[in-house]
Amino acid sequence: GSSRDAILSTNGLTKKFGGLTAVDSVDFTVDEGEIRCLIGPNGAGKSTLLELITGQLTPTDGDIYFDGNELTDMEPHRRMDAGISIKFQSPHIYESLSVEQNLRVPLQRTDRDIEAVLARTLDRIALAEKADEPASDLSHGEKQRLEIGMAVTLDPALMLLDEPVAGMSVDETADIAELIRSLHDDGMTFLVVEHDMEFVRKISEQVTVLNQGSVLTQGPIEAIENDEEVRRIYLGE
Ligand code: ADP
Ligand code: MG
Repeated sequence: GSSRDAILSTNGLTKKFGGLTAVDSVDFTVDEGEIRCLIGPNGAGKSTLLELITGQLTPTDGDIYFDGNELTDMEPHRRMDAGISIKFQSPHIYESLSVEQNLRVPLQRTDRDIEAVLARTLDRIALAEKADEPASDLSHGEKQRLEIGMAVTLDPALMLLDEPVAGMSVDETADIAELIRSLHDDGMTFLVVEHDMEFVRKISEQVTVLNQGSVLTQGPIEAIENDEEVRRIYLGE
């Protein structure tokens, strides 16, 4: 809503890969305390946009502001310290380490009470009983929960999730929706890239549609689902 403050905003954010403009002059805002979903066809620039926000990628042009500070030239680890965490689209867990050892990885450089954070995180992602199992033994859904858990250990103000329910069963998807909502209840702001509209409907009020690197439209989920251009471009109708 208009009464809330922006936690994240971009101005003219652009990323070119050679001759291809993956993100094209995007002006985009996420309000503090919301769960925003970002949808759009394959190749629309969704993952690139998230990786510009975390600093994995450097913009060709434009600026990014987070919590009142300019991020544009900040190192990725400093953005994490500032309160931005991401679960990437591609898997980033360590298969040979245990669940708990995986959760320790992002905590290595912090001065947090590691044992307390571990216990709390294992509880939040409902993997306490599997703390000592190797990550390779987890189901696909559990691996995604573990990976979200790794990002949660840092207690970010803003959590970016890139396709958190891709390839999941209905039950696993419902578990992730519940996890996001409970973290949101604890005050976390989310920007979630996801294709599964059923899932989007469960977690989000406002949806942003990206197409060919630009924001096509933005609005309440019902309006987006009934938008003719969105249906044509994105839902393939
Ligand atoms: P989405 O996540 O919406 O599917 P991406 O952000 O991954 O889209 O990609 C947007 C466009 O940028 C695509 O055309 C993709 O091929 C291209 N792209 C992404 N990353 C790179 C890269 N590292 N080098 C070259 N092209 C890339
Ligand atoms: Mg992607």
